[in-house]
Amino acid sequence: MSTVMPAGSAPAATSESIGHYLGGDRVTNFGSGASIDVTSPLDGSALGTLVAATADDVDRAVATASEAFKLWGATPLKDRVQPLFRFKQLVEENIDELAAIVTAENGKTIAESEAGIRKGLEVVEYATSLPSLMRGGLLEVSRGVDCFERRDPLGVVAGITPFNFPAMVPMWMYPIAIACGNTFILKPSEQVPLTQLRMAELFKDAGLPDGVFNVVQGDRGTVEALLDHEGIAAAAFVGSTKVAKAVYDRGSNAGKRVLALGGAKNHLVVVPDADPDITARNVVSSATGCAGQRCMAASVLITVGDCDSILDKIAETMDRIVPGENMGAIINSAAKERIEGYISRAESDGATLKLDGRGATVAGKEGGHYVGATLIEGVDREHPAACDEIFGPVLTVLRVDTLDEALEIENSNPYGNAASIYTTSGATARYFEERASAGMIGINIGVPVPREPFSFGGWNDSKFGAGDITGDDGFAFWSKRKKITEKWSASGAKNWMS
Ligand code: NAD
Repeated sequence: MSTVMPAGSAPAATSESIGHYLGGDRVTNFGSGASIDVTSPLDGSALGTLVAATADDVDRAVATASEAFKLWGATPLKDRVQPLFRFKQLVEENIDELAAIVTAENGKTIAESEAGIRKGLEVVEYATSLPSLMRGGLLEVSRGVDCFERRDPLGVVAGITPFNFPAMVPMWMYPIAIACGNTFILKPSEQVPLTQLRMAELFKDAGLPDGVFNVVQGDRGTVEALLDHEGIAAAAFVGSTKVAKAVYDRGSNAGKRVLALGGAKNHLVVVPDADPDITARNVVSSATGCAGQRCMAASVLITVGDCDSILDKIAETMDRIVPGENMGAIINSAAKERIEGYISRAESDGATLKLDGRGATVAGKEGGHYVGATLIEGVDREHPAACDEIFGPVLTVLRVDTLDEALEIENSNPYGNAASIYTTSGATARYFEERASAGMIGINIGVPVPREPFSFGGWNDSKFGAGDITGDDGFAFWSKRKKITEKWSASGAKNWMS
């Protein structure tokens, strides 16, 4: 038996059972897998305990979503987007509460939490425009024969998401999937299980029928059960590259449509004609925003030629970033150790630490996990600090003489999420834009996240599967085309007026 929790109970910092959201209710005692304690990265305080869903539990969730699909899949599109309009309004009305939940479970600043929610809402806006976009076309292909197409939903679909954007990344998926007529099972990161429970309640308040949006908590076993389940038609994943590849392979082998976005190592290239102030502010914000835990974060800064004065400005600006004041926390102690390990290794390999964020603490929050902004210089391009995804507020500087060398470093890295250039020359920007091997290019922008309706997605080892995750590609991913060829001869038509 599952226990139903009262609406609005999800967000509170509590040591109680966190629960799942199924068939329009928040349920506890539903999972029968491992118990996972969830703590706040800000100060280590307990947020609750979740019990992971097993294959049997996933089976029950799929049954609930399948039942809901019978009605939802047959609901006209114009009616399907109505709850999304109301959901957007409710999210806006409750944004302070939602941002507080994101901050409590993820550790980012309130401003960052709010920005992530608002970015997610852009996808909701896009999804509400699907009645225009889904209109399709018709062509008379020969006399009396018309071809046209319709977009059908896939059925029950799933989303599996990472810890770093508890609101935004799931919102890349379900607004479009739900508007397309699918019913959705979300498996959030077990490190941030709370935000989407509150979103599910808001969806219910918005009039979304029960069972259309479900949240199943869990870990690797839960993900594998979702990927193996025959009742799930498609799965979108966002997380690290190693897991993205495994998820893509497993889900595809089980006959699903899969799109899996992975990790990143993003390069920012600075040339001597760059505007020093804009560049410094922008580079630092890219490297230290969300404490560097963004798949779009600047990780390597490549300076071309003499950029020493710009570099000095970057170091000065970065030195003003203070954990607990204008930078948030690191998700857990293992991540803090990993990040500090990269810094220590660079130091022992002879690097200069222009800024060293190891050992950072925040007064009164000794149980939290913090790393200060770090600027590493003097490693070569093969060093782990210059090649691996560190996923913390660490920027590694490489110096080269030509833009082609910078491009060669960027393009030989296996990832391909984002790459940016800072310049005041349109020609230089164009040269870079045409040659950089990444899905999202920034010109004087360090976090070049495309705004809707442009779609989000990287290249190379930053994504497995075809298409991007939002925008028109999201709509293509969450629906299937049916092509209809129809023949009606006009000869023999009755003329009723005669
Ligand atoms: P992660 O890969 O550890 O976890 C992501 C999800 O997969 C979670 O829900 C987790 O429960 C599940 N999972 C973990 N291990 C698994 C396994 N072995 N098999 C099946 N499922 C498993 O990622 P994370 O640490 O939560 O998030 C950070 C990573 O996500 C970074 O690498 C970051 O670059 C990436 N990311 C990428 C994008 C993008 O758009 N490309 C966006 C956000 C985050």
